[in-house]
Amino acid sequence: MSKSTASIRDCFFCGKHVPTGHGTMLVKNDGSIQWTCSNKCKKNLRKLRRDPRRFKWTEKYVKGGVRVKK
Ligand SMILES: [Zn+2]
Repeated sequence: MSKSTASIRDCFFCGKHVPTGHGTMLVKNDGSIQWTCSNKCKKNLRKLRRDPRRFKWTEKYVKGGVRVKK
């Protein structure tokens, strides 16, 4: 996939490309912008506060899971 387009956006949760005109932009209090491709990602990111590396349907998924330091 080419990343030369100026308006490239990747879903903050699943890491997939969000086409122009799609997705939801979330602006945090500190001014940073997060794009999500779908309501599913938005819900997982904001409401459920899940780690995308733990879910197989995201491109950020890490095989075998994420090691969490105790
Ligand atoms: Zn997504």
